[in-house]
Amino acid sequence: MIFDGKEFAKQKENRLKLEVEELKRKGVAPKLISILADNSPESALYVSLKGKFAQRIGVLYDIHRFDGSETQRIIEDIKKANQDPAVQGIMVQLPVINEERIVRAIAPQKDIDCLTPENLGQIFVGEARILPATVKAVIDIIAYALNGGSNEGQRWLAGKNVCIIGASIIVGKPLAILLSDLGATVTICRSKTQNLAEFTQEADILVSATGVTELVKVEMVKRGAVVIDVGISKLLRDGKFRVMGDVDPNVVEKTNFLTPVPGGVGPVTVACLFENLLSVF
Ligand code: NAD
Repeated sequence: MIFDGKEFAKQKENRLKLEVEELKRKGVAPKLISILADNSPESALYVSLKGKFAQRIGVLYDIHRFDGSETQRIIEDIKKANQDPAVQGIMVQLPVINEERIVRAIAPQKDIDCLTPENLGQIFVGEARILPATVKAVIDIIAYALNGGSNEGQRWLAGKNVCIIGASIIVGKPLAILLSDLGATVTICRSKTQNLAEFTQEADILVSATGVTELVKVEMVKRGAVVIDVGISKLLRDGKFRVMGDVDPNVVEKTNFLTPVPGGVGPVTVACLFENLLSVF
């Protein structure tokens, strides 16, 4: 099947809307601040998609815009938001210049996209307080594909071979640790991996997060595998930019479960970010 990320995210959205209504009845108005310091159209689009989601569920959402070079001003703004009791979540739209310094300024308890070393470290020691939104989205989607939607229960991934292509700190690495803790045998591949297909062909669950257009071809996928495409790239075709994934859509012939791009992991990630925000209450 081709996964419908918009529908899956809509179900999360409906639940979140009810939670926000309940919080408001108790006099609490959840608020998220988004730092935007990159002037690419992609970053502007992602920040505005989050704003629209916030509006639909009733969360207050402020975009703080900066020039990419204003590192010190950004850090000061984050420190102010750390102290503001009306703000429960602070996120930085990546990429940003001086990412490490900026991200480390976020108070871990307001770091709703799990970018800080403190929150990432909790994952490593098996005491995750929060997950990066994309990682949470991928785990929820795998649970839906394999376990009727639940990621509870004893080692529901036990015995499964997982291959993750992409080893970034916000997707590949934390995802690998979490899936391993759930009982899977996990392989992480990256740009320096030799003979990528040898690893992908063994995978019951294949996750690709590279941004390399159609890196994963039909012959690289095991028959019946669950294939999760996190990657986003753009390709100029017939004079128009098209949003593309890491996975050749023809892979669907070989798998019963494929997440499309667009409309797969992306909308679920946005919903998961707001699940993280509300989890602090
Ligand atoms: P990144 O650039 O930090 O990391 C990319 C990883 O891919 C690296 O580990 C690199 O070694 C690996 N890689 C690159 N080329 C490769 C190749 N030819 N073979 C094997 N591995 C290769 O990227 P990131 O921030 O993790 O994002 C990855 C992709 O996921 C991007 O396209 C990004 O836009 C997308 N993304 C999507 C969502 C979403 O919600 N859908 C969220 C975050 C990131």
